[in-house]
Amino acid sequence: MSKQLRLRDKNHTKSSIKGPQTNYIHNGIQRIETSRGCPNLCPYCYEPDRLVVFDEIPEITTKNVQILDMNFLWRDHSRPDSEKKVLSCVKELGKTKAKFELVCGLDYRLMSLDIAKALKKARFVKI
Ligand code: SF4
Repeated sequence: MSKQLRLRDKNHTKSSIKGPQTNYIHNGIQRIETSRGCPNLCPYCYEPDRLVVFDEIPEITTKNVQILDMNFLWRDHSRPDSEKKVLSCVKELGKTKAKFELVCGLDYRLMSLDIAKALKKARFVKI
């Protein structure tokens, strides 16, 4: 059995948790972040393991939006209101006319029926 290779130094993170919230348009598609970072510590990943949830969702100005969050369903699962925060974010995005794509996928372990229904209602067409 081969051992999985750790590709990054344990104390090194390539991406920065700092910096402005992503919000730009590329080829007519708006790309945004609602959070940055992921606590999962996959050994091959350079994503910061500290999570920042941005206070505001950028104004949606295009019909198609790509969400670049690495772990969209993670807010702070040590807190009981974490799912409510996810649902609130999805609901807010759903008020627009846009269709959404979660470019980085999602962590199915954090999925619930309520979240799945909310994503569908808010036109998350690619996950
Ligand atoms: S779940 Fe994805 S974003 Fe999170 S640490 Fe693993 S590879 Fe990186």
